[in-house]
Amino acid sequence: MSAVLRDLRGVHFEVLPPLSLYVHLPWCVRKCPYCDFNSHERASALPEGEYVAALFRDLEALLPSVWGRRIQSIFIGGGTPSLFSAKAIDELLAGVRARLTVEPGAEITLEANPGTAEAERFAGYRGAGVNRVSLGVQSFADAKLAALGRIHSADEARRAVDLALNIFGNVNIDLMYGLPGQTLAMAQADIAEGVRMGTPHLSAYQLTIEPNTVFYSHPPMLPGDDASADMQQMIEDALGAAGFGHYETSAFARPGRRCRHNLNYWEFGDYLGIGAGAHGKLSFADRVTRHERVKQPREYLAADGEVPQREIAAKELPFEFMLNAGRLVEGFPLELFSARTGLQFSALEPGLRTAEEKQLVKRDMKLVRPTERGRRFQNELLRLFLPD
Ligand code: SF4
Repeated sequence: MSAVLRDLRGVHFEVLPPLSLYVHLPWCVRKCPYCDFNSHERASALPEGEYVAALFRDLEALLPSVWGRRIQSIFIGGGTPSLFSAKAIDELLAGVRARLTVEPGAEITLEANPGTAEAERFAGYRGAGVNRVSLGVQSFADAKLAALGRIHSADEARRAVDLALNIFGNVNIDLMYGLPGQTLAMAQADIAEGVRMGTPHLSAYQLTIEPNTVFYSHPPMLPGDDASADMQQMIEDALGAAGFGHYETSAFARPGRRCRHNLNYWEFGDYLGIGAGAHGKLSFADRVTRHERVKQPREYLAADGEVPQREIAAKELPFEFMLNAGRLVEGFPLELFSARTGLQFSALEPGLRTAEEKQLVKRDMKLVRPTERGRRFQNELLRLFLPD
């Protein structure tokens, strides 16, 4: 097909992108003061059975959109999914497999809070098919965990990491930096301990103050921009020296241990999203759509499972693509843009040219890669791809 014809037709896929599944379990023991995720303090016993049934209703409504496609990864996130019993997770994964073709060897991640880590429960998750765990450690300093309103202590975090490594091997820990009263030395100690714990994957996020959080109305004293930038640099240097590859803004992995599920987001792959507040993105031969669920668990449980899909206009796709692929530290192959948006590369060209002039990206015959400046000033880079 000529370039002109393809341009006239807008989005056109010969081969659809890889497909993942995200499952949102929205409850937590307590709401952390910095958290703007769709997470809700559990009132009493969780309605596990009712919620899993709602997830299946939700999934079934989406099935006609993905007939014949295979799931390459599953991510059970939240909230605190480790509040769910191993039996409920087993029912969930069995029900997913009964409705969809999950690739053999698919990566299946479950997010866990160190305050809810128990050997029997973790072994049950493993038996259900979970093969990767992501632990929200945040810090190995008790004072910082208290400042963040976390329900676990540093010792509980260490025990949870050991347990997860023994049972799953494939483990990520989330750490935060730029915490109230944190110095560079304190951030360094957290990273050093994270490396010592021996997990093959580590994610480091800067604490930011988001609207509709307790920290937004009662802001703590945080390190300034320069101090936070120094921490970020220290983290990149320390993890690089320890043998971790830095492959996305916040993600570091030992060889072979990159998170396949998150990479699929960053490479602008497709994903089904089920659960309260979950959203997804699906490609069809001639369009790309998004779907999103009601956020409140109570409303979600009462919903009839119908899932409206909104088409993403072709002119919005370059921005949406860069919002994700622009985070890849090693950049992306030129052909990925067309493979994942169904558009001609020329649709990316104007923004890319300006980004090169502003030294926010570099490109050669094969790759587009954000520069150091492009990584530090991602909003400046992204603005160049907004539709007129
Ligand atoms: S445990 Fe995680 S999801 Fe739950 S409130 Fe805290 S930060 Fe948010």
